[in-house]
Amino acid sequence: MSEAKHGIREKFIEAANRKKILAHKCSKCSQLMLETVMFCEKCGASKFEDVELDGKGTVVTYTIQAVAPEGFEDAGSYAWVVFKINRTQLRASGFLPGVKTPKDLPIGAKVEVTGFDPKHGLLLKQD
Ligand SMILES: [Zn+2]
Repeated sequence: MSEAKHGIREKFIEAANRKKILAHKCSKCSQLMLETVMFCEKCGASKFEDVELDGKGTVVTYTIQAVAPEGFEDAGSYAWVVFKINRTQLRASGFLPGVKTPKDLPIGAKVEVTGFDPKHGLLLKQD
């Protein structure tokens, strides 16, 4: 891992702990992208500005896991959720504890970032 990439991850985590999602905005064409993208998807430029998005979105798809991962043994069943960030076309994924069956989490449900786990990534709760 390069130092620059490490810096981006640290910033992403710091933003997530404030319930925000750090994204990149292309300096040339203003396209919004996830912070892991190195070149603009639209125009190929490699200059970005950091933008902080509200860590809120709607569930696009998810997978229920019956066995909680290490560090979340007390969370019971959980879902890996892909969600669309509000007011953008960006999708992010995260960990949502307490989901046992599909009726616990309808597609389109609102979720919110609550923090970041170093092993598992974004932590979510249902809004
Ligand atoms: Zn661009």
